[in-house]
Amino acid sequence: MNLIDRDRAFVWHPFTQAQIAPTPIPIIKAKGVWLFAENGKKYIDANSSWWTINHGHGNQYIANAIHKQFLDIDHVIFAGATHPKAVEVAERIVGALPNGFQKVFFSDNGSTSVEVGIKMVYQYWYNKGQTKKRFLAIEGSYHGDTFGAMSVGQRGYFNKPFEHLFFDVDFIPFPTEENIDEVLLKIEDFFATDEFAGFIFEPLVQGAAGMRIYQPEWLNAFVKLAKKHGVLTIADEVMTGFYRTGKMFAIDQIEEVPDIVCLSKGVTGGVMPVGLTVASQKIYDAFLSDDTSKALLHGHSFTGNPLSCAAICASLDLFEKEEVRENIRALEKDHHDFVREHVNHSKLKAAKVMGTILSLEVEDDHESSYFSSIREKAYNYFLENNILLRPLGNIIFFNPPYCITKEERNHVYGHISKFLDAL
Ligand SMILES: *Cc1c(COP(=O)(O)O)cnc(C)c1O
Repeated sequence: MNLIDRDRAFVWHPFTQAQIAPTPIPIIKAKGVWLFAENGKKYIDANSSWWTINHGHGNQYIANAIHKQFLDIDHVIFAGATHPKAVEVAERIVGALPNGFQKVFFSDNGSTSVEVGIKMVYQYWYNKGQTKKRFLAIEGSYHGDTFGAMSVGQRGYFNKPFEHLFFDVDFIPFPTEENIDEVLLKIEDFFATDEFAGFIFEPLVQGAAGMRIYQPEWLNAFVKLAKKHGVLTIADEVMTGFYRTGKMFAIDQIEEVPDIVCLSKGVTGGVMPVGLTVASQKIYDAFLSDDTSKALLHGHSFTGNPLSCAAICASLDLFEKEEVRENIRALEKDHHDFVREHVNHSKLKAAKVMGTILSLEVEDDHESSYFSSIREKAYNYFLENNILLRPLGNIIFFNPPYCITKEERNHVYGHISKFLDAL
């Protein structure tokens, strides 16, 4: 049997209706921004393999770090034991975040980093003997596919079968120039009830909702209101972290500091599954007691995995290189140039840049949605032209690994242009 037949026989793919989905592309090698297929074709990884890979595939420096770590300690239990790389990760991540964060909790992916954040918030109030049941989130948000993460995410098509199991969450509308005053009033009203345990948000960009961008001033005002009313805030930086928004973290663009931040996707350069939930000392202190049941009784088999930690440290080393920062700035600049040249294109409803993310809303006969027919057309057009780019409905977005060269970028920009012209 060939690879595709064996895949068909034994593999269950994510977000895929197998009965009607096209055959998956058999990728047999990945290097830099390129993915190489079994049939000899190659593709630019234009969305960084689900927004994870930020230094490119097969980075030798990260590979060496993982290899060396494997020979030192491959894996070790993280309750009742510790190891140098986990401590280094915690020190360096706290050092990189705005002042106010102090303790790093390790888990396995973005969803678990959010679960842990939600559990920290609810148990914070529980430990203090206060009942706070309500949670606030933003319409259109995506925080992962585990139950807590689904509860605080946009309800609907993707999680309908489970809806009766979710806890109660209130949603504010996605902020825009038109509704921002209303949204602020709504938040104030909610928080004035004194019933809210926490508020979770994707800072500055909602990823899965279609790379929807909003203003730092608004986010700053939201966090400020939460602080005023004692509501704990969780910044879900799973997608935005590690220079996706042009800065190390999206929250670097606001003044207020949230209580908890969730990191994953690009934290290892995108090559190992890790989630980090970073909390302030205030949160941590609420779990200290002579009573063990007040501890955060949560963990995973691979919590603090040394190989993942080595990858995180190596990725942080790379971000200290001027050359890497320069690539990020150059990518951001070229995105802006593209927008300037296309902002009045008749087939574009909106064209925006946030750091290394270029987000284009394509005119559609129907209202923007994940199931837009533009999606299939665009996906296939780009594949034919050696680009793996998965639009979210009628949103075409380009967030490549930062090592992408000018020539490689221009190949993608050129085809986005051509695609729009041909519509
Ligand atoms: C992808 C994502 C998650 C979930 O991360 P997984 O690793 O896929 O579980 C959570 N929050 C945001 C903002 C994300 O983009």
